[in-house]
Amino acid sequence: MLTLTNGGMDDTEDVTGDSQRDEVGVRPLTSSELALLDALLRHDFHGVHELRVQAHQVCASPGCTCGCGSLDLQVPDTVPRSPACSPVPVEGTVVGADGEPIGGLLLFVDGGRLSGLEVYSLDDDPLPMPHPDRVRWQTAA
Ligand SMILES: [Zn+2]
Repeated sequence: MLTLTNGGMDDTEDVTGDSQRDEVGVRPLTSSELALLDALLRHDFHGVHELRVQAHQVCASPGCTCGCGSLDLQVPDTVPRSPACSPVPVEGTVVGADGEPIGGLLLFVDGGRLSGLEVYSLDDDPLPMPHPDRVRWQTAA
């Protein structure tokens, strides 16, 4: 397990000027969200090393308005950029209490940086971000 604490008080006012991005709602990831990201990034794929570094500095904001748990991810401009493709070639399957698949998880990268963790539902009900125990991971060929 990575311990992704927000080490120290280096209050990086680094809202680097890509437009006046509305920073409302930006927050650290919850422990459950971090555990999901950690589990996904434990797989090996091209560019994962940089993404693991980025995961130590990631913040999140709501990535969707439909009621699901999808997140927009934000990392500082100073992180090493990853050559990973997007979405990354590791996907999560979200399973329900009976073990049947009910949705999935995808991790997106934009410009070499973590940009989104999307949870999608296999039926019409939006899914919240699942507990890590409810996710089965598989690597795309
Ligand atoms: Zn949604």
